[in-house]
This record gives sequence, structure tokens and C-alpha cells, in this order.
Amino acid sequence: HSDAWLEIRLVPYGEDLSLLLARDVTHLHRLETMRRDFVGNVSHELRTPLTVIYGIAETLADELGDDADVGDTMRLLQEQSERMRRLVDDLLMLSRLETGATPSNPEWVDMCPLLEELVEDGRALSGSRNHRFELECERGLLLEGCESELRSAFSNLIFNAVKYTPENGFIGVRWYANNTGAHLAVTDNGIGIPAAHIPRLTERFYRVDSARSKASGGTGLGLAIVKHVLNRHAGQLTIRSQPGQGSTFICTFPPQAIQRAPAPSR
Ligand code: ADP
Repeated sequence: HSDAWLEIRLVPYGEDLSLLLARDVTHLHRLETMRRDFVGNVSHELRTPLTVIYGIAETLADELGDDADVGDTMRLLQEQSERMRRLVDDLLMLSRLETGATPSNPEWVDMCPLLEELVEDGRALSGSRNHRFELECERGLLLEGCESELRSAFSNLIFNAVKYTPENGFIGVRWYANNTGAHLAVTDNGIGIPAAHIPRLTERFYRVDSARSKASGGTGLGLAIVKHVLNRHAGQLTIRSQPGQGSTFICTFPPQAIQRAPAPSR
């Protein structure tokens, strides 16, 4: 039938023969679509009531935050509703990323101003933890894609670097091109990741240390979002890390996805 899905595999069989195996995976594909739609619909339905709850919690925390009896409870209410809002926003973002293989309206994104903004957001998140930030950016090196998706992926990487790097640590962001394509590298000298965890980091809700992730406000969906955004931009993620030394997350984009803007005329 017309909407059947087949999984086709070519398997070596003896010296000079191969077998072509076809498996009907229509039901798996339907289940996957149902799962995706369900998560998308639930997140969408939860968003409105949550926004209301968050608004009320914020007002109550403002008004009663100093009250000896209920202040702590109000702050907890605000904190937890904020956490739920972030979770629902990330789930919605993921389900949007799963529909359509590529961004619908790609444009040439000027990366330097975007990264400057994101590094400033990283500084704000770092607060009084005294991280040292360094941004090295090839001026006029544009990347083709959806700005809001790219912003979300890169901010997840920069925020993770802040979250998982103790105070006084270093966070480096570098955007450059060479003959293999263009690369965005986010480096930190934070807690690092044991090698055994690295292959699973982009799975939804996969965390090396769940308590630490939750304490730092993580939803467990950040790197899943990064992976989806990169897939949609023909990009690849490379993760290098040493426990106790730090981590580097590199997003690599193919040469055809970049362009150098002409130098501004004097
Ligand atoms: P979370 O919201 O928990 O940060 P992510 O999907 O962004 O979720 O990351 C998954 C896990 O990968 C994190 O819980 C953390 O254990 C690990 N991780 C991500 N980035 C870093 C980093 N820069 N340094 C150390 N660990 C990291």
C-alpha cells in the first residue's frame, strides 16, 4: 500500500553474493509518529495553564517572599513552576524540530553578533561565579540556517559550559572555517564527562549526574535539541572530554553551508 515503510538492508552472503532484506516497518513508523504527535500535543496543551501558574507564582513570590511563614514556600512554588515551564518549552521545541527534515525558511546567519549575544547571556547565567569568557569569531563568516534554531542549540552548549564549570573556570567559544568546513567549538575547563557516557549524551533526559543537572536548572533535553538542530543543518557534533579537566563540544558544518560576507566598504 502507498504509505508503507520498508527497511532495506544489503547483507553479504558468501564470497560474491549479497542478500537484499526488506522488513515492513510501517507499524513502527506509525507508532513513532503517534509518540511524536502525543508529546507535541501534551506539551502544547500544558503550556497555557503553566504560563498562568508561573505568572501567579511569580507575583506571590514578589509579594510574600519576605514573609517569615510562607516566603520559602512561595519561592519554591516559583522555582518549580519555572522549571516545569522550561521543560515544556524544551519538549515543544523538540517536537517542532522533529517535524520536517530541514528548516522551512533558511537564511544567512551572521554568527559573530549572535555569539556575542549568547556569550553575554552566558555571563549573566554565570552571575557571581567569576568565569572567564573568551570569544574568538571569524568576522563575516555566515552560516546558512534557521537563526532561532541555531540560537537555541548554541545557547544550550554555552549554558552547559557555565553550568558544569566551577567558579573561576574558563569558557571559550570559537567560530572558524578551514578546508573541512566551519566549526563552532565551545570549550570549558569544568567537571568533564567520563568516556562511557559520551555516546549517550544526546539522548533525551540522559544525564551523567541527575542531581547536579537538576540543581543547575537543566531539563535533560539540551543536547537532544542540539543534535536535532545539527541534523537539520547537515551538521555534526563531536564531543571531547576528560573528567576533571573539561569538555569541548564542536559543531561542524559543511563548506556549502557557509559564506563570507563581503568586507564592508570604507
Ligand atoms: P542538562 O539539562 O541535564 O544539562 P543536556 O542534555 O544539556 O541536559 O546535557 C546532558 C548531560 O550531559 C548533562 O546532564 C551533563 O551531565 C552532561 N554535560 C553536558 N554538557 C556538559 C559540560 N560542558 N560539562 C560536563 N558535563 C556536561
